[in-house]
Amino acid sequence: MQTIQVKDKQFAVSIPAAQIAEQVKRVADEINRDYAGKHPIFLAVLNGSFIFAADLLREVTLPCEISFVKLASYQGVNTTGEIREVIGLNTDITGRPVIIVEDIVDTGLTMAHMIDTLKKQNPASIDVCTLLVKPDKLQVHLDIRYCAMQIPNDFIVGYGLDYDGFGRNSKDIYTLI
Ligand code: 5GP
Repeated sequence: MQTIQVKDKQFAVSIPAAQIAEQVKRVADEINRDYAGKHPIFLAVLNGSFIFAADLLREVTLPCEISFVKLASYQGVNTTGEIREVIGLNTDITGRPVIIVEDIVDTGLTMAHMIDTLKKQNPASIDVCTLLVKPDKLQVHLDIRYCAMQIPNDFIVGYGLDYDGFGRNSKDIYTLI
């Protein structure tokens, strides 16, 4: 079993790079088919999606744009505790078909909030394209049109995802052991 150490924790390889590439290509093909004749704007959520977005976009053959946003954390007053606000959106998405590119949907609260925020700008449509979903952790109803892979409820790093800032540069995805 191939393992890596990231800071104080040990991780074992769970999704090899070749399998990731295959699934990223599959999702891009679905987008190419569904968005034929349209010019979507991809909104990639930094930092975690930077490798996924780069690989995905190179498989997309449509005329398209990409813009990058961040989610800033602050303590909300609701029961879930933390709300992450969309910052850095300096592109006009009014009337445009938007595809959000996310690294991983866990509870789904971040994505649900982001969709609500973007809807206020009246885009033509919003679809979610995520590298990973943990279906057992979802707390809200989310229509995830494009999902490369589903994973169990474990903590993972690699392919853009971090543990305390480290581990993003691994080509494979690793699971905490
Ligand atoms: P949600 O609001 O869906 O619970 O949170 C999703 C965010 O949590 C992701 O964008 C990511 O930043 C973080 N996250 C959730 N699960 C993992 C994981 O297994 N590994 C890493 N590195 N980040 C995760």
